[in-house]
Order: sequence, then C-alpha cells, then structure tokens
Amino acid sequence: MVVGEVAEPADVLVIGGGPGGYTAALRAAEAGRRVTLVERDALGGVCLNVGCIPSKVLIHAADLVDEAGAASDLGLARTAGSDPLQGIQCRMRDVVGGLVDGVRGLLDRAGVIVVAGTASFTRPNRAMVVRGDTVTHYEFEQAVVVTGSRPVELPGLPFDGERILDSTDALYGLDHVPGRMVVVGGGYIGLELGTAFAKLGAAVTIVEMTDSLLPEMDPALGRVVGRALQDRGVEVLLGASASGLTEGGLAVTGPGGATGTVAADTIVVAVGRRPNTDSLGLDLAGVATGDDGRIVVDPARHAAGRILAIGDVTTGPALAHKATAEAEVVGMTLAGKAGAFDPATIAAVVFTDPEVATVGLTTAQAKNAGIEVNRHRVPLGASGRARILGRATGFVEVVADRDGTILGVHMAGPTVSELAAEAALAVEMAATVDDLALTVHPHPTISESLADAARAALRG
Ligand code: FAD
Repeated sequence: MVVGEVAEPADVLVIGGGPGGYTAALRAAEAGRRVTLVERDALGGVCLNVGCIPSKVLIHAADLVDEAGAASDLGLARTAGSDPLQGIQCRMRDVVGGLVDGVRGLLDRAGVIVVAGTASFTRPNRAMVVRGDTVTHYEFEQAVVVTGSRPVELPGLPFDGERILDSTDALYGLDHVPGRMVVVGGGYIGLELGTAFAKLGAAVTIVEMTDSLLPEMDPALGRVVGRALQDRGVEVLLGASASGLTEGGLAVTGPGGATGTVAADTIVVAVGRRPNTDSLGLDLAGVATGDDGRIVVDPARHAAGRILAIGDVTTGPALAHKATAEAEVVGMTLAGKAGAFDPATIAAVVFTDPEVATVGLTTAQAKNAGIEVNRHRVPLGASGRARILGRATGFVEVVADRDGTILGVHMAGPTVSELAAEAALAVEMAATVDDLALTVHPHPTISESLADAARAALRG
C-alpha cells in the first residue's frame, strides 16, 4: 500500500471513461463540480471502442454484403481482393474515431480534466493513478467507479489473439473472414458475431451450453433466431460445452456426454463478462463486492462513504443504456439532489437476423412471481410491412396481468430494436393493453404488430 504522499485535490474523481463514466462526468460538471476523469485506455470504453458501436458497424456491413454485395460507401471498396473484412474494419475505426472525438469534445467543453492512467484506491478518500513510471495521487471529495467489464476466459481455451479470440479480437484482430468459425456462447454477443460472420461467408457453428439460444430471454425468441441461423447454414449445437482444443478444431461434449470435434480455424469465446473490480484496491476504500465481483450499491448508487459505482461493475444487465441511465442518477446525487435508480425495466435488443427485443417480464417470470398472466402473440406473417420486406419471420408478444397492465413485450423480427423504446415506455408507465391497442400505429410498419398483439389481448 502506498500512503502519505502529497495528493492533488479532486472534487469528483470518475474512474473509467466508458458510457457510464463520461456521462457521470458531464452531469457532475454541469452541476458545477470540478471533475477529474481517469481512463487507462480509450475514452468511450468498451461500448464505443470494442462493443456496441463497432459490432453494429460489422453487422450493418454484413447485412449489406448479404443483401446486395459490396457497397463502396461503407468502406467495402477499400478491401483487398474480395474479402470485405479489412474494409469493414476501416469503417469501424472511422465511426468509432468520430464518436470518441465527440466524447472528448464534450468533456473538454464541460471543463472535465481527463487523465490517462490506471487508477486504484489507496484509502477511502484517496486514489493513485499510474501511467508508466509516473504515479499521481488524488484526494477526492467523491469518486465514481465505472471501470466496466472484460470477457470471461474458459479454462482450456485461453485467449491467444490468433486462434482463440475474445469479442474484441473477433472485431479487429482478423485480417480476413475465416473459413470455419466456432462461436462458443449463444448469448447476444456470440449470436451477433456469429450472424455477421456467417453473412460474410464463414461456415459458423454456435456451441451453447444450455438448451436454448439467448438463454436469459423467452425461449421462443431463441428458437426463432436458431431456426433463422440454421436456414442460413449455421450449425447450432445446444446442450454442448467446449472442453478444449484438438488438432482439427474444438473438442465439444454434447448432451449425454457424447464427445466430438467441431472443425474450426477460428474460435470466438463469448461466454459472458466479468466486472473490472479486482485490481481497484476496493478493500482499502471500504467498498464491498458480491460473490460475482460486482460492487454492492444502494438505489442512489452509493457503494461506501464517498464512493459511488455504476455500469457493468454493478448488478443488473451489462448494457450501455443501463450504465448511462445510472450515470444520470449519479449526476443528481453529485449535484446534491435526491435520486434513485429504479426503472421498471431495462430493454435489451439483439442485432441478429431477425432482430430481437425484450422488455419487462416474460410469461415464465410473471408466473414465477405469482402473477396471473394474459399473453398474446401475433406472428409477423400477418404484417404487411414484414411481407414487403420479405422478412415475415418472427412475432410480437405482449404479456399483461389480469387487469390488462402490460408487464412485458417480447419481439423477434425486422427493426424490432426500434420498437423496444415504445414497449419500455408502456411498461414504465404501467400502460394497459387498451392504451397500446387504442394508440393509432402508422401503416405499413412493424409497429402495427405491437398494437395487434394488444388488440388480441383485449379480445382475450
Ligand atoms: P465500459 O464501457 O467497460 O468502460 C469502462 C472503462 O473503464 C474502460 O474504458 C476501461 O479502460 C476503464 N478502466 C477500467 N479499469 C480502469 C482503471 N483501473 N483505471 C482507469 N480506467 C479504467 N451494450 C448495449 O447496450 N448495446 C449493445 O449493442 C452492446 N453491444 C456490445 C457488443 C460487444 C461485442 C460487447 C463486448 C459489449 C456490448 N455491449 C452492448 C455492452 C456495453 O459495451 C457495456 O455494457 C458498456 O460499455 C458498459 O459501460 P461502462 O461505462 O460500465 O464500462
């Protein structure tokens, strides 16, 4: 432990420059606080640099390759030969660079002092920041921990950046579309990457340990995505776990203990993320973590004394919009106002093909909570818009209680990501199926299916 050094004063010290961190820093600065933000890598965090944004650039480009061949305005013209990946990576860097510059500009204009380095606590009111051989100490009035998360590594499949890749290497580390790719993990990150690489021409196998894709969502959503993947030639192995490398590929143990090898020249492991809380000196600051390593916080996001925590380091879905919503609450706290993070729901979207959006309780979750459920599902085959697009696979389902209050909405289909906010608003405002059914939805749009599902619920 390093103690007793001369420390620079920091009114608010934000550790981590991802979506949670930079939003909290901006809100605190707007409230008149003097903010120092420490970032060890790149402003924008996982989301902007190696997560939400570049993965969606890849997915959008893969959609175009899939639908119409190369599109030069998306950077595909920059590719060598016919492999589109390097051109897509150029565009990822362009898009990410522009957004990161935007964040830097906002922080500059707000007067936030941005410090490059790795921070850790040395006392309940002090942190040190290490950059190369330089160590700077800060004494803070309040600190916000927003250090995010990193990919979980599987024993027997350590990331090597060449054959066994995490999501960052899958986005930036390949110089061509691999011939055979195995994705270990059927959650949203694995399925988004697997779908995109399949569209770019890789022979993809998905290996998922549970008996369902997107295991944390309504099983019907995973089934729709699984069928669509299989239709495009992707092999989906459920109830199968990756146990190590073999000469030809990946050793997999299937249901009933049967073992086999899946041929692979690239293996992407996307089996979850762990919070970056282990080297922060949290014990020296009196901050407690749960068994999962996540920081324990109250509704105002206080972790201990002067320290608050938000984003992937705390419990709840590891999603960028959850981190920024928590940052708004922290902004209120740092402004001396009362605030609590207590949303009725945090929507989740998956940019597979078809897309998936899920909001609020599933039927099973509602029943487990003892709620009598009224569930209505309309297939997208009935949607004019879905037919026009030639993408009528999927459904919209509304889950309501006996009185018609909407508890959840679960959707698979084209552009349903854009309907997640309407569904979240309905759940947040405790709207009823009447409210949704009587709201006139424009024609011809996929959103009509949301009203149709509510109308079906009204009919009972
Ligand atoms: P992060 O964005 O992880 O930022 C934390 C920052 O802290 C990092 O920049 C890190 O370098 C820095 N840091 C860590 N330790 C220290 C230290 N000791 N000192 C100084 N700095 C430190 N979410 C969505 O909502 N939608 C999506 O479509 C989506 N797609 C994703 C796709 C992929 C491939 C991945 C990996 C993630 C995706 N996510 C998505 C999740 C999203 O990226 C995270 O939930 C979000 O970035 C969390 O924000 P955060 O501010 O908590 O942490």
